[in-house]
Amino acid sequence: MLVIRYTTQQFEYWKATLKEILKHVRASILDGLEVSDVVLTDVRKAIDAHTLSGGQRPGLAVVLVGSDPASMIYVRAKRKDCEKAGISTRDFDLPIDTTQEELLTLIGELNADNEVHGVLVQLPLPPQIDEIAITNSIKSSKDVDGFHAFNVGRLALRQHGLRPCTPRGIMALLHYYGIDAKGHHCVIVGASNIVGRPMGLEMLIQGATVTTCHRFTKNLEHFVRQAEILIIAVGQQGIVCADWISEGTIVIDVGINRLENGKLVGDIDFESAANRAAWITPVPGGVGPMTRAMLMLNTAEAAGIFINEPHKQSPDV
Ligand code: NAD
Repeated sequence: MLVIRYTTQQFEYWKATLKEILKHVRASILDGLEVSDVVLTDVRKAIDAHTLSGGQRPGLAVVLVGSDPASMIYVRAKRKDCEKAGISTRDFDLPIDTTQEELLTLIGELNADNEVHGVLVQLPLPPQIDEIAITNSIKSSKDVDGFHAFNVGRLALRQHGLRPCTPRGIMALLHYYGIDAKGHHCVIVGASNIVGRPMGLEMLIQGATVTTCHRFTKNLEHFVRQAEILIIAVGQQGIVCADWISEGTIVIDVGINRLENGKLVGDIDFESAANRAAWITPVPGGVGPMTRAMLMLNTAEAAGIFINEPHKQSPDV
């Protein structure tokens, strides 16, 4: 009897100690800076090998309309990545009052240009220009953002195509760290055309069970609590409360919010979430660099240097 009581007391002691230790165990970081560097190096090597054997250097046309400060920062970073990856760039910085017809004419020329393999039009566009018309006017084989209806449709059907960069970057990040989504419940918060929707398709390809939440979802907490993989892409700081996360969740924060002091933060409080999650992406330094690296990969793919085959990845769900 005495022995049993002693053992129970010991067990309780160790349980409490372990709980205390776990409180201080923080999530491992999904380091987008490190992984994007690996991707860019691989892309560079492949491009160098391709050009050395007489192939054409991939070319990316980067079109910026107006001078939105955030867009200018993104475009500058993308041009730098091109340098790193060995992709030649053509820059088109157009005035804010550019008309839709003028932009369509430029895209038509770039579509026909054999030295341009990828066409990127930085969004958002000024209000006089219809973004959908522009996105779908880019030749689908040069649509390195992966926003064209043809490419999204191909992704939905698990067929080869240029894939939207952010979801693709998230899948590459998980793959790098050996995280297999198959059979896991992935909850995506946000259902936009460029992140949430294609993210669900990517996860489905990997055999995850997918729940997509959006602005009309009732009781977001209920769904977040069920997530084994949680992807948040809303653009509202604190939209998901860290207390809702189950211990051991993999947390991917896509959101970018600039605070009044200029600091960039994600959609979830990183410090609190890191105390509950198993893995987490920092902001900045998580999804952002992966998105940019996928743009380089897509450009190399558009030039015929790589090919992705989603149907071969897919465990026929
Ligand atoms: P968006 O505005 O197009 O979409 C936001 C989504 O959030 C919508 O689907 C909406 O239904 C949902 N939403 C709004 N309120 C909600 C609520 N209360 N509960 C649940 N869902 C809600 O935004 P987006 O273009 O998808 O971008 C989202 C965020 O991700 C932004 O901060 C953006 O800057 C960032 N982003 C980052 C990268 C990157 O590479 N890191 C790439 C793209 C977007």
